[in-house]
Amino acid sequence: MTVVTRFAPSPTGYLHIGGARTALYNYLYAKHTGGQFLLRIEDTDRARSTQGAIDAIIEGLHWMGLHWDGEPVFQFARADKHRAAAEQLLSEGKAYRCYATPEDLTAMREEQKAKGLPIRYDGRWRDRDPKDAPAGVKPSIRLRAPQDGETMIHDLVQGPVTVANAQLDDMVLLRSDGTPTYMLAVVVDDIDMGITHVIRGDDHLNNAFRQYQLITALGKTAPQYGHIPLIHGADGAKLSKRHGALGVEAYRDMGFLPEALRNYLLRLGWGHGDAEIISDAEAAAWFDVVNVGRSPSRFDMDKLTNLNGHYIRAADDTRLVDLILPLLEKTGPVAPANLAFLKRGMPGLKARAKTLNELAESAAFYVRPVTFDDKAKATLADGGKAALAAMIPALESTPWTHDALEQWSKAYAEQTGQKLGKILPPLRAALCGTMNSPAILEVMEVLGKDEGLGRLRAVAAL
Ligand code: GLU
Repeated sequence: MTVVTRFAPSPTGYLHIGGARTALYNYLYAKHTGGQFLLRIEDTDRARSTQGAIDAIIEGLHWMGLHWDGEPVFQFARADKHRAAAEQLLSEGKAYRCYATPEDLTAMREEQKAKGLPIRYDGRWRDRDPKDAPAGVKPSIRLRAPQDGETMIHDLVQGPVTVANAQLDDMVLLRSDGTPTYMLAVVVDDIDMGITHVIRGDDHLNNAFRQYQLITALGKTAPQYGHIPLIHGADGAKLSKRHGALGVEAYRDMGFLPEALRNYLLRLGWGHGDAEIISDAEAAAWFDVVNVGRSPSRFDMDKLTNLNGHYIRAADDTRLVDLILPLLEKTGPVAPANLAFLKRGMPGLKARAKTLNELAESAAFYVRPVTFDDKAKATLADGGKAALAAMIPALESTPWTHDALEQWSKAYAEQTGQKLGKILPPLRAALCGTMNSPAILEVMEVLGKDEGLGRLRAVAAL
């Protein structure tokens, strides 16, 4: 059997972090088994579904690198198929027409409430002769659900879960206006798409019992279910915006790399021994939905940030330049010569940044006129300028390569009877405008003699 998984978002908002993890698990399980990963947009709620949300979800999945097989399936466009399934059940006697009006149902619920009974449809039209149908009432179609026994699901994550059938009422499949219910649409689409594994948030576990009954009534085998615990915030409460329950594009804008977010979300609720850094190939080889944990995991921004630092260090220099260039260009164009500094300086820069935004900020001195922070100003004021003026002639006659500069700095220290810790800070302050920069001899090599001396002379002359 070829495994077929799906991600089935409702396009009522962005692709949030929980949805991204669900998509990732479905994607990886398909990769792990050599199966297929499909995308279904559940746009049946016409009032709340928007094109903007569809675009945001698709863009978010692309950015995350979660590529689905084939074309996305749009649920609303399949309403005829959903209706046909309800008609089929009706003709087989597995569903029936219910002529209860909204007023009847309200009265029924109020009576149940008054008697302290559970609120559920009481099956009043289940066995009634349709000849009794009141004139002018358009019927809904309900499933003739089993009333005895129980429905059991062998959930891949939760284990066996059971509900007494008496607790489930005869759900509506087609509303009286002929529109299919969400439950019917999901089941028919899962069947038609050949879904073998439904991996989704455990807020859908209750739906699974009804979906199982409906699939069985349609004469099909139910998929395997894996209901994964939701993500909680660091304080243990359900994840909300305050905790970082944002769209994935917000994480992109905060300067996270997609591979860092993938690795982080993978580890949030699933693990492979002690492995923290997991490559895509390892993830596909190791991930199995049966190993997803049963308790909710806590979203930890610091962990994600540290992981991002790792992936920035591991990333290709040219890619990083491409990623930070738009950030730098927000404050003005970047001249080609300065772009070369950025490329050569990237190894030193990326070793120190945890987000792309930090990386861009720390790279600014390579592409913009230097601005001096307080510590740099203090260093220059405190004898730094004079020290620079004294060093410039020696630096003019030294090649600006790392090795030559290292030799020069040692010789200059010896010759002037100063410690290296005295010589280098003014250079750092003048060239970078901050005392928090990559190794200064590296920066000097990257800038080269012309640019470097130009900056030093300008500062010394101030
Ligand atoms: N559309 C549902 C949601 O966004 C998912 C339904 C499912 O996975 O079966 O929560």
